[in-house]
Amino acid sequence: MKIALVAHDQKKDEMVRWGQKWRSELARHELCATGTTGGILARELDLPIERFRSGPLGGDLQLGAAISEGEIEMLVFFWDPLESQPHDPDIRALLRVAVVWNIPVATNPASADFILSSPLMKGDYERENPDFTEHLERFEPGRKVEAS
Ligand code: PGA
Repeated sequence: MKIALVAHDQKKDEMVRWGQKWRSELARHELCATGTTGGILARELDLPIERFRSGPLGGDLQLGAAISEGEIEMLVFFWDPLESQPHDPDIRALLRVAVVWNIPVATNPASADFILSSPLMKGDYERENPDFTEHLERFEPGRKVEAS
């Protein structure tokens, strides 16, 4: 499974502690992260981590794009509820697209503990792929246009 890891600055220590606790489980998966989070985790956990751009420089959007392409299957995102972020629209976009594509999302260490300890982590979990046919075909030729 490919897991994306993101932590805001005030949450990076928490992410390192969480990562150390789950290092052996994380080592079984493919990891990626926003730039700074990925650099710190790679160093502290001594694990290979694909690094996207730093969050405020577009990294959240890159992760969101990878989720919509089906390349990322889980998001662990420790966002900071006590600080405003310059890239708030990007954060919202990342969280939104994770819901659109029905991937598991953990936003704090407790929810991340629950997800990583799930028996579903061990097997081939078949995530239900959302059906967007209705959305994609809404302007197909021949489809009746509703009068407003
Ligand atoms: P960073 O980005 O890992 O590069 O700090 C995280 C974020 O702020 O979204």
